[in-house]
Amino acid sequence: MCGIIGVCGAEYAAHMAALGLFAEQHRGQESCGMAVSDGAVIRLRKKMGLVKDVFTDDRLQELPGNIAIGHVRYPTKGSATEFNTQPHLVETLYGPTYALASNGDLVNYNEIRKLLEAEKVYFKSDNDGELLVKYIAYRIIRHGDEISEAIRHLMKDVKGAYSCVLCNRTELYVFRDPHSIRPMVWGIAPSGAVVVASESCALDTLDVVNRHEVPPAGIIRISSDPDHVGANQILVIENDPNLYRKNSSEKHCIFEHIYFSRPDSYHFGEDVYRVRENIGAAMAANDAGLNPDIIVPVPDSSNFIGIGYANASKVPISLGLIRNHYVGRTFIKPEQTIRDESVRQKFNVLPNFFKGKKIVLIDDSIVRGTTIRKIVKLIKNAGATEIHLRIGSPQVCHSCYYGIDTPDAKELVANCHSLEEIRSRTGVDSLKHLSMDDLRKCVQEPDNYCYACFNGEYPLGVPH
Ligand code: SF4
Repeated sequence: MCGIIGVCGAEYAAHMAALGLFAEQHRGQESCGMAVSDGAVIRLRKKMGLVKDVFTDDRLQELPGNIAIGHVRYPTKGSATEFNTQPHLVETLYGPTYALASNGDLVNYNEIRKLLEAEKVYFKSDNDGELLVKYIAYRIIRHGDEISEAIRHLMKDVKGAYSCVLCNRTELYVFRDPHSIRPMVWGIAPSGAVVVASESCALDTLDVVNRHEVPPAGIIRISSDPDHVGANQILVIENDPNLYRKNSSEKHCIFEHIYFSRPDSYHFGEDVYRVRENIGAAMAANDAGLNPDIIVPVPDSSNFIGIGYANASKVPISLGLIRNHYVGRTFIKPEQTIRDESVRQKFNVLPNFFKGKKIVLIDDSIVRGTTIRKIVKLIKNAGATEIHLRIGSPQVCHSCYYGIDTPDAKELVANCHSLEEIRSRTGVDSLKHLSMDDLRKCVQEPDNYCYACFNGEYPLGVPH
């Protein structure tokens, strides 16, 4: 999972892009980067670390220009090194010519890389973004394609999840895979600058009100006039009917609604927080007669699931668990030792709150089971008499190959243990997951989603 941003036609594009990346920091905290064009030169800065540390005011001053693309990275393919950090640049005889940042994972990465290497295209990293930009440059340089034509070829040859921003010195291109697995939205800021982002919360930060989703297999070209800020030409290139058939091709990641995205984002035709409230209400409907004293969500991603449960059950909700916001998201820490340490430092309980109470504890998912076991222990030690754990998704039994780092099924607790074993290991009095049927009822177009990490039905197949 990563976050991307693109800005075209702004006087200080890098500053706007940095604000957008900051709003998307939850999508990746390992590293971040930005490529900025002033019409003559594309400059690149990328580094391990958080947006606020990498893009200080001084650093942003060194990135003049009215086109910027940016990226926050959570590593999936490729190790956590600066080499794999995005954006990736392609240099030609004329210097840096194309830069690209992507969100997602490719299924046939190895096959395409071998094809390109056979054509003497060389790689510095094993990152999907580098493959995508080098494929496009290869089509342009060796086959004489226009950029949009090269992207069309890419959509036919490359399989997987990819939401991308690409710039040359004077244009910004935005494109998205035919299944539109990862979110991508765009709109126009009050200044006239065009802004594109993984999540609409980044557009809100920049006061973009007229937001649109990038269509599946869609390409948007934005040309900027460096002499007239905000004077952009926007061309939405029609979907290729061979790549996109409405209602049969969209396979959005359902986990974006359950966990990854911020609740104030809107994508796949849904408000994220409303989907989460629906999930909570669906779980409450299956708990008639439980009569807990209080609902406690695991902050932050489960807060709205908890609200939905509380509203439907008429049981009060309280934030009995307090999260230290400076620790970051445990799911997206790349190593188990770091995740363990993070959990210990991340949560604490309210004093004198849990004693003698029967609680429904709400979490969005159980992936490795690391976090929830420690949370339950904390709450038990604080004196709760009963803990009934409710999970706002079906059991995660399969790895994701479309942009989330769960490569080995052995890491998934539901793949190795029965529900009863997990309940017992977790130490709760009862454990229930949202059913697949109920999850499908929580969104308006259930057939337009990927549920592979729950049911193993991979809409794009698995890497080969
Ligand atoms: S496998 Fe799961 S996490 Fe991956 S895209 Fe599908 S629903 Fe999302």
